[in-house]
Amino acid sequence: MIKTAYIHSDLYASYNLGPRHPLQQSRLIDICTVLRTKGLFSEGLDLFEPAACTESDVLSVHAADFIDIVKRASAGEAGLPLSRYGLGPGDTPAFPGMWENGLLYCGGSVTCADLVAKRIYGRAISFAGGLHHAHHDHASGFCILSDIALAIKTLKANGHRRVMYIDIDVHHGDGVEALFRSDPDVLTLSFHESGAWLFPGTGNVQDRGTAIAENSVWNVPFAPNTGGDVWCSTIQNVTEQVMQSFLPDAIVLQLGADALAEDPLGHLVMTRWEWLNTVQQLLQSFGRRPVVILGGGGYCRAAVVDVWSRVAMMAAGDDWMHGVDIQTSTSSRDALDFHSATMHYLQQHRGI
Ligand SMILES: [Zn+2]
Repeated sequence: MIKTAYIHSDLYASYNLGPRHPLQQSRLIDICTVLRTKGLFSEGLDLFEPAACTESDVLSVHAADFIDIVKRASAGEAGLPLSRYGLGPGDTPAFPGMWENGLLYCGGSVTCADLVAKRIYGRAISFAGGLHHAHHDHASGFCILSDIALAIKTLKANGHRRVMYIDIDVHHGDGVEALFRSDPDVLTLSFHESGAWLFPGTGNVQDRGTAIAENSVWNVPFAPNTGGDVWCSTIQNVTEQVMQSFLPDAIVLQLGADALAEDPLGHLVMTRWEWLNTVQQLLQSFGRRPVVILGGGGYCRAAVVDVWSRVAMMAAGDDWMHGVDIQTSTSSRDALDFHSATMHYLQQHRGI
């Protein structure tokens, strides 16, 4: 039994991009309600409030001029050059209190990293985190501050020298990749719908990191209409092989739930059963390594609340399968052809 911490604050929901925006963090309150109703916080999961990050923590990842703009926009200042920093109107609108909320959700991911790095817990979950499109000097794709980079740095600062970041969100984890592509001790592995069809347009299988960190970047893109027949075993096999050569000391797992068929933004077609089984196989493959579990995308609210609450139950050793429809999905002919070409490249050039 691996001890698991669950980090939550109702204030997470104040990440408010607007009433019609696809990303609604009030979903996190629903998940907490499900877990509380099931009694998970009395048995299995230890519930913690996030400890907010400080400005100097955030400046270890982000550019000072970007942070200055985030703080001023958060305080309601008008006339700022927001679009230069990836902030609204559009995908990532500025909103009052975004700085304070950013410190909190980043703090949630750092709290996770701190608890597992010190071996107080084997796994720690903060579903407010996982905002993988946040860049060094700009916001992007609903993401403002990189909680993920802060969590990775916290693991490293606590003696876990080699950190592996695994991202199963339907979108490429471009922000995290860009922040660590020159760090040979951080490997980023992203499984996503190809940028030929979906935001952010990056994440090619050929990308491998800069010269000083050769092999630290791994991307496995999929075509639209890829199903569980391909997605599940590929995630399992590629992760295990990469892990065997990289030998990470700790893991950060981004669990964006937008590769589900129910998701309105992506075009992959996983069933909840397939998605959850894949997460379980990943958790098993990590063994006793410390694991930080973060959220990410996921725009069918009912599906996200369901699968993330089941992930928390899974991590806590509870019966997560009860009531899940056992359904499978199959890939289209075009998706299979695209996948064959991807795997051929990985075999020829990356030894997978
Ligand atoms: Zn996504």
